Amino acid sequence: MTIQSFIPPQRTLMGPGPSDVSPRVLSALARPTVGHLDPTFVGMMDEVKSLLQYAFQTQNPYTMAISAPGSAGMEACFVNLVSPGDTVVVCRNGVFGARMIENVNRIGAKTVVVDGTWGRAVDPQALEDALKQTPEAKFVAFVHAETSTGALSDAKTLCEIARKHNCLTIVDAVTSLGGVELRVDEWGIDAVYSGSQKCLSCVPGLSPVSFSEQAAQVIKNRDSAVQSWFLDQSLVMEYWSGQGKRSYHHTAPVNSLYALHESLLALLNETLEKSWTRHREQHNKLAAGFEDLGINFIVPEQERLPQLNAVYIPQGIDDVKVRQLLLNEYNLEIGAGLGQFAGNAWRIGLMGYAARSENVALCLAALKEVLAP
Ligand SMILES: *Cc1c(COP(=O)(O)O)cnc(C)c1O
Repeated sequence: MTIQSFIPPQRTLMGPGPSDVSPRVLSALARPTVGHLDPTFVGMMDEVKSLLQYAFQTQNPYTMAISAPGSAGMEACFVNLVSPGDTVVVCRNGVFGARMIENVNRIGAKTVVVDGTWGRAVDPQALEDALKQTPEAKFVAFVHAETSTGALSDAKTLCEIARKHNCLTIVDAVTSLGGVELRVDEWGIDAVYSGSQKCLSCVPGLSPVSFSEQAAQVIKNRDSAVQSWFLDQSLVMEYWSGQGKRSYHHTAPVNSLYALHESLLALLNETLEKSWTRHREQHNKLAAGFEDLGINFIVPEQERLPQLNAVYIPQGIDDVKVRQLLLNEYNLEIGAGLGQFAGNAWRIGLMGYAARSENVALCLAALKEVLAP
C-alpha cells in the first residue's frame, strides 16, 4: 500500500466557491463528534436555527440547514412547494436559473421562462409582462446573485411584482447570503435557499433554507406527497423543530454543523451590515486594480456582485494556462467561465473570509505577473 494521509495544499480560494474557510471554523470542525440526538447537540441545532434567522433576516420558524449542498436546497424548495400541473414563472439570466427550470420540469409542472441577458440583472418589467400574460402562475423563481455571470438582481422589486400577481417567491440566495443585503421578511420572500461554502465561508455540504408561513401552508395542504422522501420538509422539520421530542429522520452531519454554527456566529459578531460593507470595499479595491491591468467587467457597475467578479479574459491570453500558473505558482484558485462565458471569462470570488485586503493584493499582484508579456 502506498496510500498515505491526504494533506491538501494551502490554497487561497478566490473562485465561485468553496471560499476560504477561516481557522476558527476549521477548528470547530475538528471538535469531538457527539450523537446527533445528544441533548447538547440538539441545543446547538436550535442555535443554528436562530443564527440562520439572523443571517436571512427572518422570523420564519421553518428555517434550518439541509444536510446537502446548495443544489439540494434548490431542489427542496421546488419539490416541496410546486405540485404537478402548477405554473411557475422562472427568470433565467444564467446557469442557475436554467437549473430551476430543470427542477420545475421534472416535477411535471409548467414553466414560463423570462429570459434575460447573461451578465445583467433580471429585468423587473419583463417579469411584470410575463405575469400579466400568465394569470394561472402560482410561483415566481429567480436567482438573487447569479454566480455564473456576476449579476445581482433586485430581489425586493421582483418579490413586490410577484406578490402583486398573487405568486409566492422562490429565491436562490446561495451566493448572496452574507455578501450583499438580503432581507427575507421585509422583502416578502416565501422560500429561500443558500449554501454553506460561499459568503458564509463554511465547508461545503450544507444548505440553509427558510420558508414563510404561506409557503409552509402550501406544503401542508399538498394533495400529493413530495416526490423526494429525503427532502420532504414536513418530515425534516420534525427533526429540526424545537418543540417536543425530536424524531430520527437522518443522521445530521454533526461536525459540519459545528462549522456552520461557528461561521454564523462569526457573522453575528461582525454583524451583517459590516459584512456587506466589507465585501463592497474589497470589491472596489479589486475593481480599481483590474482597471489598472486593463481587465474589463462583464456586468455594468450598478448590477455587479461584490463577491463574484466576472471579467473578460484579455485578448490573446490563454485561459487554462493562466489559471494553472496561478494555482501552481501562487496557490491561488480563481474560477473559469461557465455556460455562455466558458473560455472567455474568469470569475474571481471575494466571498466571506476570502474578502480581505491580503487576498485582493495577492490576486492583483499574481495576475500582473502572469499576464506580463
Ligand atoms: C453554488 C451555487 C448553487 C449550487 O450550490 P452547490 O452547493 O454547488 O450545490 C446554486 N445557485 C447558485 C447561485 C450558486 O452560486
